[in-house]
Amino acid sequence: MRILVIEDEEKLANIIVQGLKAEGYAVDSAPDGMLGTEMAFSHAYDAIILDIMLPKRSGTEALRAIREKNNQVPIIMLTARDAVGDKVTHIDAGADDYLTKPFSCAELTVRIRALLRRAPVQHSNTLRVGDLEIDRMLRQVKRAGKRIDLSAKEYGLLEYLALHSDRVLSRAMIIEHVWDASFEGLTNIVDVYIRQLRAKIDEGHEYKLIKTVRGIGYGLNDGAA
Ligand code: CA
Repeated sequence: MRILVIEDEEKLANIIVQGLKAEGYAVDSAPDGMLGTEMAFSHAYDAIILDIMLPKRSGTEALRAIREKNNQVPIIMLTARDAVGDKVTHIDAGADDYLTKPFSCAELTVRIRALLRRAPVQHSNTLRVGDLEIDRMLRQVKRAGKRIDLSAKEYGLLEYLALHSDRVLSRAMIIEHVWDASFEGLTNIVDVYIRQLRAKIDEGHEYKLIKTVRGIGYGLNDGAA
């Protein structure tokens, strides 16, 4: 899951970015509305956190520009103002949620999880692939009923694979959604993490859920499809 944070207050932006990264999300950030809108157009983000008071282009204008392109990425607006009118205006303009400053990182991540679950396709709290179970609220993984501990990044990769268990994902697609812009390609990072996941998810199980499709990429499925 890749998230874009558009916020000009550097300190707050850093707190949000670090908080989301700690949860295993890939996170990019933009310090103004102009760059933020451009980034929203050039990458397939899974969610955007958008401040209202921004230099160069306000959050309100950025929101309208994104929706005008028929981009339905889930967007949470941030603002210091607690005006009800503000909220109505932005929900009308296509914002999915609204958070008034100051807020805690825990509150933001709960809202993000809720948002990612309901869009763009309805996803339930629990993802199941064969005997693998992923609780997206608790971010807990079990296989055959046995709890598996994963790092935040391993979890992010597994969740992404599980959300698309009906298809094979290329390394480029995986990097686009699980890593962020500061990641520089040309390494075998995906293969390294797949190897780690295999050791935790598939080792000791007769049926291997993680599939390698030579020349294409990886998939996670129970072979039933
Ligand atoms: Ca601001």
